[in-house]
Amino acid sequence: METQEISFKESIDRMFDRAAATLDLPPGLAEHIKICNSVYQIRFFVKFRDGYKTFVGWRAVHSDHRLPVKGGIRYALSVTQDDVEALAALMSYKCAIVDVPFGGSKGGLSIYPRDYTEAELERITRRFAQELIEKGYISPSLNVPAPDMGTGPREMAWIADTYRMLYPNDINAVACVTGKPVTQGGIRGRVEATGRGVQYALREFFRHPEDVARAGLQGSLEGKRVVVQGIGNVGYHTAKFLAEEDGARIVGIIERDGAVLSEKGLPVDRVSDHKWEHGGIKGMSGVTFVEDGCSVLEADCDILIPAALEGQITMENAPRIRASLIAEAANGPITFEADNYLRERGKVILPDIYLNAGGVTVSYFEWIKNLSHIRFGRLDRRHEEMRGRQIIETIETMVGRKVPDHLRSQLTQGADEFDLVRSGLDDTMRQAYNEIRDIFLSRDNVPDLRTAAYVVAIEKIARAYQELGLY
Ligand code: NAD
Repeated sequence: METQEISFKESIDRMFDRAAATLDLPPGLAEHIKICNSVYQIRFFVKFRDGYKTFVGWRAVHSDHRLPVKGGIRYALSVTQDDVEALAALMSYKCAIVDVPFGGSKGGLSIYPRDYTEAELERITRRFAQELIEKGYISPSLNVPAPDMGTGPREMAWIADTYRMLYPNDINAVACVTGKPVTQGGIRGRVEATGRGVQYALREFFRHPEDVARAGLQGSLEGKRVVVQGIGNVGYHTAKFLAEEDGARIVGIIERDGAVLSEKGLPVDRVSDHKWEHGGIKGMSGVTFVEDGCSVLEADCDILIPAALEGQITMENAPRIRASLIAEAANGPITFEADNYLRERGKVILPDIYLNAGGVTVSYFEWIKNLSHIRFGRLDRRHEEMRGRQIIETIETMVGRKVPDHLRSQLTQGADEFDLVRSGLDDTMRQAYNEIRDIFLSRDNVPDLRTAAYVVAIEKIARAYQELGLY
């Protein structure tokens, strides 16, 4: 869809301005928070069997009020410097909202990964990483990338290894990037973290009946009819968890080549497998296929979850959006104008800078794990189990009866890394929602959850700058 009214970056800046205008900040401070501090553009070539190919990539640092700065690396043919700056800005706001002590950054490489073999992609990634490392745009203490569209654990492992080869004496080398495979210093629960965070955020939203009613809905996630755009990392995990664990019905999935629909609920795993095997979702049996995938954004459903890319809901299609709750799992899926339009018509939007922060939250846990050189839970898991057994034995002795087996096994289970990551993520998403909600409910000049989320971010970043004494 090519109907974005203003650029992605302009859209984000306007959302920022709308929120900053409700605050009384010292002159010039809001402007400084908004601008991108630095961006490095690199053109490099890689020699292939049939000749040389030149690539262009960027790494932007939006705000370094906290270090390291953090943000994914995107591989997409369409990525531009403007996009990378916009995404870096979202990272600064996101980290502030979920109290992750990082500044915001983002990287992009203009490439269509499917055009290359795995070996070619590895050479391209290592070359790109080397250029960024040499300029301080990848470093455990300064700038820590993670996966984004088109990249995943495999690319992160190549980047970590490239860094380690350049700095073999850096004992924290592995912390130069997050989202690595668990066997390469990654953390359990990172791959699905963004989708898991979306699930936890939606659960928290549905714990507040007044908020649910504001969105024209009632009850819990159980039975809610959901449409998801993009069945990649974020969309797949979000859809899977909502369907399998919360009883939501995924009635539509939109991909590049069309959309599939099923009123009784789509088999999320099968849709994802089909996409991986065939490069798209066309041709699946037992579902209805719609050629014009974008039209399904307008389908009748309770929750619309854009989880693919930016600029999908614009003034062109906003008037036809029927979902009353839109959960922005992707970055920037709604343009500034469409956002205003939808709010004025009573739609409730859970904004990207909050909703998809699960990825960076668990990346933060991974970075801490790397710096501490020990798996979470390794020291205390068995100790917790022993304490559980002691408590049960004490209770049994005191009351003269046996604790039932299912309770015994629950109480004697020590937390492993998975449990701790989920617990930390759940707590983060709940707390952040309530902080945003409090601002929304308590300030007359804050009209929606997005503006409230920006207010939370701006206030925290402004405080950091003011405390540093730079203003
Ligand atoms: P991904 O590459 O794994 O998946 C993206 C999916 O969207 C793919 O299946 C792709 O085919 C599909 N897609 C692309 N263009 C489309 C179109 N025009 N219509 C329909 N589907 C389309 O990427 P991802 O990591 O899941 O990221 C998705 C979004 O979430 C991006 O906006 C990204 O910035 C954001 N995000 C990702 C993470 C993360 O941890 N991966 C964290 C925060 C935010």
